[in-house]
Amino acid sequence: MPVDHGKRDYGRCPCSGVYENRFVEVRMTVNGKVVVLTDVPQGACPLCGSRVYKAEVLERIESLMKGERFKRAT
Ligand SMILES: [Zn+2]
Repeated sequence: MPVDHGKRDYGRCPCSGVYENRFVEVRMTVNGKVVVLTDVPQGACPLCGSRVYKAEVLERIESLMKGERFKRAT
């Protein structure tokens, strides 16, 4: 079955470093409650420490911040 692990290229950081793919824990506070996301795919620059997320991950985080449930299946 096709697993979407192939698209892990975050490209290059403006500092010329190459983002490394890794999985992190993201903590945030939503309406006074701490929400923890685990195994969040993240690109991290080993040179300057800059971090990037994929669009769909940002979407998830944003909707969580707004207190919305996951609405989309894709
Ligand atoms: Zn960098």
